[in-house]
Amino acid sequence: MPKAGEKPGKGTYECSGCGEEQNLNRDVEKLKECLCGGTEFKKKGKKATVKK
Ligand SMILES: [Zn+2]
Repeated sequence: MPKAGEKPGKGTYECSGCGEEQNLNRDVEKLKECLCGGTEFKKKGKKATVKK
């Protein structure tokens, strides 16, 4: 689970405490601590495209 201060790569991350989202547009951006004080985030996946 990505935490504040880490650079988990591009994507949208949702605070596990309050659900607030952060977008990282570049691989070098760090996750910031959430306004609620939460430091753990879940990556929100784009829907995986499954080929049939
Ligand atoms: Zn939060």
